[in-house]
Amino acid sequence: RYGKLTVITGPMYSGKTTELLNFAEIYDLGRKKIVIFKPAIDNRYSAEDVVTHKFFKMPAKVVASSDELARVYYSVGERPDAIFVDEVHFFDEAIVDVLKKITSDGVDVYCAGLDMSYLWEPFEATAKLMAIADEVIKKKAVCEICGEYNGTLSFKKKTNGGVIDVGGKEKYIAVCKDCYRELSLKE
Ligand code: ADP
Ligand code: MG
Ligand code: ZN
Repeated sequence: RYGKLTVITGPMYSGKTTELLNFAEIYDLGRKKIVIFKPAIDNRYSAEDVVTHKFFKMPAKVVASSDELARVYYSVGERPDAIFVDEVHFFDEAIVDVLKKITSDGVDVYCAGLDMSYLWEPFEATAKLMAIADEVIKKKAVCEICGEYNGTLSFKKKTNGGVIDVGGKEKYIAVCKDCYRELSLKE
């Protein structure tokens, strides 16, 4: 039997990591075996844990690529009941086949990541995973400009980094489409 593939997505601060770790905790409470992964690039709060913006954390295996994720997964020994991958948008597109293959072992796969870059463009890895997922959970944030619970985009304040540029509120805020447009016109 195949495991289930769930994708948790939305803009920054929409509670993706919180939701991911909530699912992880449910398996943990049920004494199921889990493995949590995160890409090496995300070192905002910790080098070896997955951490939410409210500082809830769980230990993770840090991997540099989808290849390394596969290697670590197949070296763990006993097959886990579920695996969890945070910041999945940072992975190369090969992550799609790696995770699909893992579900074929009967392992449930949960991944969380941004659906779009701050340019309002899809992230390939997340977009493809959403397409093949059994369930997609789209989260919203509170728009940091108008205060409505309709924030679907991440806006990047003026800095010199590129599309991949890890940071917190000093660089990115969650906004609704209307506030995104107004901010973009001002910049
Ligand atoms: P994500 O992984 O999507 O970036 P987290 O799960 O790490 O989000 O953090 C979600 C938490 O961020 C919320 O529970 C809330 O305390 C906090 N937060 C900060 N700014 C916002 C915002 N604009 N909208 C919603 N939550 C926010
Ligand atoms: Mg997160
Ligand atoms: Zn707004």
